[in-house]
Amino acid sequence: MNNETSVTAIHPDVERMLVSEEQLRQRNIELGAAISRDYADREVLIVGVLKGAAWFVSDLTRQLTCDFTVDYMAVSSYGAAHKSSGVVRILKDLEVPLEGRHVLIAEDILDTGLTLKYLIRNFLARGAASVEIAACVVKEGAQEEKIDVRYEGFVLPNEFVVGYGLDYAERYRGLPYIGVLSPRVYEDA
Ligand code: 5GP
Repeated sequence: MNNETSVTAIHPDVERMLVSEEQLRQRNIELGAAISRDYADREVLIVGVLKGAAWFVSDLTRQLTCDFTVDYMAVSSYGAAHKSSGVVRILKDLEVPLEGRHVLIAEDILDTGLTLKYLIRNFLARGAASVEIAACVVKEGAQEEKIDVRYEGFVLPNEFVVGYGLDYAERYRGLPYIGVLSPRVYEDA
């Protein structure tokens, strides 16, 4: 058995790494502590936005000491392209009613903000008592909608990133770090 870890090898399609596996681990501990403090006296429903946030939700919830339940929603996003269409469509809805619930939406990345703006409105319309946002990545200067992110993982430059749940045409989600996808990958597509 060898002791080398996967982080030593950066995928050849990744131009440069922005957030390491260790930085993700550390930040999830900090975010988990903050969420546990804030929801110490009320149960929180964590809504992960599929597919990308599944990795973030999985790690984050293992750091929580407060009472929580988890549900997932799938909305349309970029498809195989790398630019936002601005169109939000529900592909898989929640399994639980939101009436009176304290909801924390967990998103992989906040880009234009169109997805979260839609979800916040939608959840409040369904009677949620509160709706807060945890975003693993916030892209600097990319927001077209003002979104108040209560739990922010990393602020990254406005470049197309992959890894830790984030894909390009369904690939690269399993990379344990977040990195900039080499533009030649989508320029050649
Ligand atoms: P928004 O609605 O904020 O523009 O976009 C949110 C969704 O777009 C994210 O959940 C993600 O699926 C996708 N997205 C936005 N920026 C990136 C990026 O840099 N990399 C990847 N892989 N997906 C992104």
